[in-house]
Amino acid sequence: MKLVLKNGYVYDPANGVNGEKMDIFIENGKIVEEVSGAKEIDCSGMLVMPGGVEIHSHIAGGKVNTARLMRPEDHLRNVAPRTSVTRSVCGYSTPSTFLTGYAYSKMGYTTAFTAALPPLMARHTHEELHDIPMLDKGALTVMGNNWLIMHYLSEGRIEHACAYAAWLLRATRGYAIKAVNPGGSEAWGWGRDVRSLDDRVPHFDITPREIIRGLMEINERLSLPHSVHLHPNNLGRVGNFTTTLETLELTRDVKPSRERQVLQLTHAQFHSYGGDSWRNFSSEAESIAKAVNSSDRLVLDMGQVVFGDTTTMTADGPMEYYLSSLTGLKWANKDIELETAPGVTPFVYSEKSPVSGVQWAIGLELALLVESPEKVMLTTDHPNGAPFFTYPKIIAWLMSAKSREEVLERLHRAAQKNTVLGSIDREYGWSEICWVTRTAQARSLGLESKGHLGVGADADVAVYRINPESTDPAREYEAVERAFSATALTVKGGEVVVRDGEVVKVVSGKTLYVDAGVGEELEREVLKDVDYYFKRFYTVNLANYPVQEVYLTSPEAVKVDSGVR
Ligand SMILES: [Zn+2]
Repeated sequence: MKLVLKNGYVYDPANGVNGEKMDIFIENGKIVEEVSGAKEIDCSGMLVMPGGVEIHSHIAGGKVNTARLMRPEDHLRNVAPRTSVTRSVCGYSTPSTFLTGYAYSKMGYTTAFTAALPPLMARHTHEELHDIPMLDKGALTVMGNNWLIMHYLSEGRIEHACAYAAWLLRATRGYAIKAVNPGGSEAWGWGRDVRSLDDRVPHFDITPREIIRGLMEINERLSLPHSVHLHPNNLGRVGNFTTTLETLELTRDVKPSRERQVLQLTHAQFHSYGGDSWRNFSSEAESIAKAVNSSDRLVLDMGQVVFGDTTTMTADGPMEYYLSSLTGLKWANKDIELETAPGVTPFVYSEKSPVSGVQWAIGLELALLVESPEKVMLTTDHPNGAPFFTYPKIIAWLMSAKSREEVLERLHRAAQKNTVLGSIDREYGWSEICWVTRTAQARSLGLESKGHLGVGADADVAVYRINPESTDPAREYEAVERAFSATALTVKGGEVVVRDGEVVKVVSGKTLYVDAGVGEELEREVLKDVDYYFKRFYTVNLANYPVQEVYLTSPEAVKVDSGVR
């Protein structure tokens, strides 16, 4: 399998390439120095980037499926029959597995991580991931309300907590430690929530502050490839920025295992709210961006809101209950035994609503006020802020102040009064777009062969039908949006899978998970506790819990020797 992508304008900022006319050589699924006798594809006048990397999107698992059952009306959108290549598809905020793969691939994405994997749902989640074509995949394992984690941390047994986390990652075939409303989702089991970092979790002698700090310490001791991926407490609450800032401060207490972030603040938009009631709801994006700018231990993803109808879903059950009580819309809730408590409810972001307008502005403010694009990742927390189909629109907003102004003018005046977006002139260039849609994600996840086009990288490439030399994105933002909606070519693992916005070949990608080794003796001790918890509390047998390789599409373990003994 040899291929040359000839003469495109290449953006590969991780390797210092910014719009140079170059050829990309591909052999056996990897980028190589040069090939002979390869098929050539002319990419003259087009934009070439590494394949997109999605770091936080709810694309598989229990919540997604609950949402599909709950919203049959959503299945009426994007309905398309099968073709000679693709299966029939439907859905918008809760797209079918097949549509998820095809749609990401059409936008030039080649890798996607599902944002929250409750361990008890791991088998099901991997079965769904297996069904999603076109992408390499991974899952973030939720641990922020896990009984054994809380038990070990509250007793100060950090080595045991490390060994359990390593076992849990392997058992769930997970890639990283995710925490969602630490302590709060467990409290929800008792009809409660936590509202500050120092509230006590019912029946556990521990606070959110101690859980977050503990998980970061586990992550660094295990030298995991990604950092802790945190959805902090008080998501979506007015005035929550103080909780967020306090949470970000905790990164100072942790010794990093290497030079990179120890925490990813996920869907930061939902955590950057000022004011003390919905009447004076305002943006605190400046405070959050300042904290990120002044620290080398933090990165964030946007959690951008786009106007329209969507479905919200999160392992933060109390938040979903609160949201449904504000809207009066249907909602669902699940209790995942000793692990978490997710919820689902539909939501409409309206241009007429003062709150939605401010939320829309906050996501963009964060991306524009954080100075380094290496610390920013474009997400909508699909489908919470909007379905991922809206990414091209967000790219256009980042590149054009004029396009933002046009939206701002239509919105409720609160969006101008209670945010600073209107005063920000910054416009992203093509390199910055490359950072925030692939390179920063790959770096944050520790995926060395993704997010760039250097020799040895995976041959995952996106070619967009737009000429960066002759296009002024600030003015021609509609052309930018069109170009990023459908690639001229998407190359996955060295094969052309999308041509002119149509899927021409279906591939299955692989599943990435982390296998972190700890001392055998320690692991045996921890497994005794795990066994006891299963016998006493779980409704399933321990033997029916871990995910076997047979559930996975071409599994690829990222092996880490943690040195924890
Ligand atoms: Zn999420």
